[in-house]
Amino acid sequence: MGDHRGRDEQFVEAVKVLLNAGLSQWWLYLGQCGSCQQNWLLAQEERIYDEHLLVKISQERADAALDAGKWPDTFSTYESVLTIAQTLSHPGQFLDPMAWSLLCTVEDLRRERHDISEDEMAHLLGISRRHVHRLIVRNARASIGERMKGWLSFVRGNRSFH
Ligand SMILES: [Zn+2]
Repeated sequence: MGDHRGRDEQFVEAVKVLLNAGLSQWWLYLGQCGSCQQNWLLAQEERIYDEHLLVKISQERADAALDAGKWPDTFSTYESVLTIAQTLSHPGQFLDPMAWSLLCTVEDLRRERHDISEDEMAHLLGISRRHVHRLIVRNARASIGERMKGWLSFVRGNRSFH
């Protein structure tokens, strides 16, 4: 949420996690302000922008997530998270052009929407279309064993942030 890193972190620390959306939407959770009880829908974008994105949500919508597992559409796909992050922030610089966070994000975006173009992904990731193409080729070549290792480290990494 902008460049005021310290303030963002303080805010996020004041928010109590009420519910995580689960593994298929590992970035998404419902939180509540510890002092005023305002409910927030939060997305932690930790691969490309390293930002927390959040919107206020009503008690009714919070209850729908808590009681019925019905989450708002905001942040429901990783593409939607990156689309919003892209309008608010700047992507990180990757020293390794084949960084795992780039590889798996390209793969996730294509899984969510099969006809997403290289240009669209380049825009969301802040890299060139040519770079996106190289990531796609690398993903296609990756062995199943490598993918499993990557997936396991993402599951472990994801658990550590609460
Ligand atoms: Zn508050």
